[in-house]
Amino acid sequence: MMHQEKNSNNESSFWLEMCPATNFPTLNEGLKVDVAILGGGIAGITTATLLKKAGYTVAVIEAGRVVKDVTVGTTAKISVSPSKIYNNLISTLGIVKAQKYANANSNALDKISEIVEEHDIDCDFHRLPLYIFNESLEKVDELKKEAKAAEKLGLPVLWVDNVHLPFETGPGIKYDNQAQFHPRKYLLALSNDLDGDGSYVFEKTRAITVKEGELKEVVTDQGSIMAHNVVIATHSPVYDPDGLQAHLHSERSYVIGVYVKGEFPDGMFIDSYPVHTYRSTPTDKGEMILVAGEHSPVNVEDRSLYYHRLEKYAHEHLDVESVEYLWSSKDSVTDDGLPMIGMTSQEGIYVAAGFGFWGMTNGTTAAMVIADLITGKQTDATNIFNPLRFK
Ligand SMILES: Cc1cc2nc3c(=O)[nH]c(=O)nc-3n(C[C@H](O)[C@H](O)[C@H](O)COP(=O)(O)OP(=O)(O)OC[C@H]3O[C@@H](n4cnc5c(N)ncnc54)[C@H](O)[C@@H]3O)c2cc1C
Repeated sequence: MMHQEKNSNNESSFWLEMCPATNFPTLNEGLKVDVAILGGGIAGITTATLLKKAGYTVAVIEAGRVVKDVTVGTTAKISVSPSKIYNNLISTLGIVKAQKYANANSNALDKISEIVEEHDIDCDFHRLPLYIFNESLEKVDELKKEAKAAEKLGLPVLWVDNVHLPFETGPGIKYDNQAQFHPRKYLLALSNDLDGDGSYVFEKTRAITVKEGELKEVVTDQGSIMAHNVVIATHSPVYDPDGLQAHLHSERSYVIGVYVKGEFPDGMFIDSYPVHTYRSTPTDKGEMILVAGEHSPVNVEDRSLYYHRLEKYAHEHLDVESVEYLWSSKDSVTDDGLPMIGMTSQEGIYVAAGFGFWGMTNGTTAAMVIADLITGKQTDATNIFNPLRFK
């Protein structure tokens, strides 16, 4: 296993290991495509993939290198639920919207599985259960309510007395048939498949603004590209005619990769109070466990305090042999907890943001919704994610 160069916080993401560096060209000035997609993370690359499949020419425009920003900060659990959300969503947004969101999450999980198969991607995609539990018996009632809410929405949920982790836990919720994967292997394969037949991936090309019109001009630091449609998938929208930034609230969260003595159970685990998560991933030295948790302001300079707390937590819960990786990244949550996905007030300019630390499904949903909007399909998901709901 080769280790990436570490930054001043001693961080390096495991997902960057073992994958070749990318070297897509910078923008060729003067091009015209059907859809320009700004941002080469999971939202941008998946959107481009679905639109290319639908017969459109696409160009992904990435400021740095593809799949090197928030998407390599993830723990890449793919599931219909990040934690306890549905009981709250039913109370705040109503059963109809909660049902549509549950359906969107299920569809996104299935879409990733379908894409892996269709593109024949070797990315450690693996179906397994996701458990949500509390370590103590505190707040078991909330978990019970969540299980009931998920059941009402038709999700594959079971109540279990124990979640079989190497330490004692209270009871919890089990979602069957969820998944995990290696996000960079998945997205690099898609990026390579995108390039060609009138479609492009451009790196080291920073979008500066978008000039509206029937044919839009995306102005970048490498010149301009013209497109009929533009998708802003830059995590934090670089072009924001509707002031959506005011409705995005960002935080940083932390991950450590550890080797432990003994077997780790086949599952993904979320301790919902206070939130800590576990999943394993294959490495050339055996299974590594990713333990995530802790939150801080995005721009905190010295992150050692948060890593120290997370390592302490890991040592208290697992028989840790070594800590191999530390990494962190940011994500943003919207005012109502649903992502913002859809057309801005500018015809033909779309935005995908606010994935609330659950961008594997929410980023894939974004791609599905935006591809449907561009190809003229009306679906259930179109309205609930409409970014203009905040205006
Ligand atoms: C610690 C942690 C754990 C997580 N765990 C999970 C999990 O288990 N499951 C899950 O579903 N989600 C999880 N998430 C959330 C998930 O990783 C994110 O929601 C998702 O990766 C965001 O993808 P993105 O495409 O929006 O962003 P990015 O991957 O950041 O993509 C945006 C791209 O836009 C580029 N860009 C920015 N500005 C410009 C510009 N001006 N011009 C061109 N390009 C530009 C950036 O360089 C970047 O490559 C986790 C997040 C964190 C932080």
